[in-house]
Amino acid sequence: MDNKVLDIKDLQIRYVTEDGIVEAVNGIDICVEKGKTLGLVGETGAGKTTTALSILRLIPDPPGEIVSGKILLNGIEVMDVGEKEMERIRGDQVSMIFQDPMTALNPVITVGDQISEAISIHQHVSQEEAKIKAKEMLELVGIPGARFAEYPHQFSGGMKQRVIIAIALSCSPRLLIADEPTTALDVTIQAQVLELMKELKEKMNMSMLMITHDLGVVAEVCDDVAIMYAGRIVEQGSLVDIFKNTKHPYTEGLFNSIPNIDDRKAELKPIRGLMSDPYNLPQGCSFCDRCDYVMEKCATEKPKKVYFSETHFTECHHYSDNPDFQLNKGKK
Ligand code: SF4
Repeated sequence: MDNKVLDIKDLQIRYVTEDGIVEAVNGIDICVEKGKTLGLVGETGAGKTTTALSILRLIPDPPGEIVSGKILLNGIEVMDVGEKEMERIRGDQVSMIFQDPMTALNPVITVGDQISEAISIHQHVSQEEAKIKAKEMLELVGIPGARFAEYPHQFSGGMKQRVIIAIALSCSPRLLIADEPTTALDVTIQAQVLELMKELKEKMNMSMLMITHDLGVVAEVCDDVAIMYAGRIVEQGSLVDIFKNTKHPYTEGLFNSIPNIDDRKAELKPIRGLMSDPYNLPQGCSFCDRCDYVMEKCATEKPKKVYFSETHFTECHHYSDNPDFQLNKGKK
């Protein structure tokens, strides 16, 4: 039986603008299995949010354009369903939590009414039933149901993010997409919110796509990890594969850019330069301008996937030439 809640195949998305064509997502394959959390990791502009929005079919068209590929959500091709059916899918099958809890809530509607509204729209229940369920959802995310009639400004940032989680989960989606859900929160609150999301994922038997640039968040909540760079998945594997058996120079660069608590004297080594201009991606490997391992052919030939196990692969010429190639620039 197919265990995939989300299965994206060869997805290619671009934005056609007056200044040119932005190649945002360039042929990616990702899947999220039932009950698992996949971390989609990369820096700003890598194509993570575009990928997430395409799953909900929320890419503004124009200028956005899905050029090719498949997006299967519980076996349903989201690009083939009508708008009415898509509205049902958003909520029942998939929900998304956005980065900034300060702007995601309507300031003039009580939090209770905002949760009830989501429930009424998707579950066609009476107002009274929606209200009862909304109070249950508040309790589920650790907010007393008695605060139902309060407005967003009466809640702290962490509490607001809990309300947003309650809205996102109110229709028991099978897949929750979380786009940098803790980035705008204080560090202490971040840990609480991540813990809550982990707990709820288990309780509701959901799957999760966690979009983040933070490898600490990945270590905390993910089972599998996809590293995205300039619209490509450059390495993908289990959490252990990515953390203990790093293969791609970019993944190594990400690890070298974060402080190591076990070696406080170790120097941070940021990745040099900036991500390639998405209007004008290099002909070969998109990482070639920043890579410490660059070879002549990297500038002209696109690297192909090389598999180390059924689930762990990377895209780098070194492994096509020599599967035993080892990174050696000091991953901590
Ligand atoms: Fe670096 Fe070349 Fe590998 Fe790209 S293909 S990551 S430029 S060595």
